[in-house]
Parts: sequence; structure tokens; C-alpha cells
Amino acid sequence: MKEEEAKHNKLTKEEERVIVSKGTEQSFTGLFNDNWKRGTYVCKRCGAKLYYSESKFEAGCEWPSFDDEMLGAVRRTSDPDGVRTEISCVNCGAHLGHVFTGEGFTQKNVRHCVNSISMEFIPDERQELPSWTEENIKRALDKLCSWNRHVNL
Ligand SMILES: [Zn+2]
Repeated sequence: MKEEEAKHNKLTKEEERVIVSKGTEQSFTGLFNDNWKRGTYVCKRCGAKLYYSESKFEAGCEWPSFDDEMLGAVRRTSDPDGVRTEISCVNCGAHLGHVFTGEGFTQKNVRHCVNSISMEFIPDERQELPSWTEENIKRALDKLCSWNRHVNL
């Protein structure tokens, strides 16, 4: 068991309470609830990829919601009460939250209700495109013109 733990990221007390003891983080404190950047959500404990930002949607609920997981990344287990379905990281077993179906939020009709604290967000590099300010357009045109001149010589 000790060796197992060594492979994982160190967790804070609160992270441990949620991820290991299957607790629920306090509502509206979730770091990623209002994060709409493009990127990938990975497991806080082992770094396995869990969700793409494209699957995140606004459910008006207090935790980040996703309607799809990465293929094979999330394990579903029935809660002891038989009512809810727990979701956890396939790779390390970290508790993520719960999954609900049939609520009609999105076409997929699935809602992964995930504790922000169970995840880490890796922003997508693709969103770092230069903005088309006048200055940037002028620079791009200049480059194109000098390239043209070069070709015409
Ligand atoms: Zn994990």
C-alpha cells in the first residue's frame, strides 16, 4: 500500500477527505465551476485524463458538470444506498463524484457531477492564438509582403 501511495501526487487534508474518503466538497467553492476555458481535466491524484472541456456544460448545479468522459477513464459503482452511482478514476480509484442520467440537460442525457477538488485543469494551448488587433494584422501583412518581394526577385 505504501508503494501505491508514493506513485500518486501528495494531497492536502481537504483533497484527501474528498478523494480518498469519498466526501463532497462544499458547494459553490468548486474551482472549476465557472471555468469555461478549453482544455483537459485530469485526476488530481494520478494525472490521468478524465474529461475534455468540450463535455462541460452549465447544469445550474453547484459542481462542474460533464456529459461525457474520456473513453475508459471513469469507473461507475453503485453507492451502498443503491440510489446514486459513484464515479471514480479508473487508474487510481480516486473518488470524483456521482453520475446521473435521464435529466435531459444535454443530448447525451448524462451528467457527471464532479468535485473540482478531485481534478486538475490543463489549459489547451490552441486557445493562445494571437488576437487580430490592427497591430498584429499589419505585422502579418508586412511579413507576407516581404515574402512576396522575395519571391518576385
Ligand atoms: Zn486517478
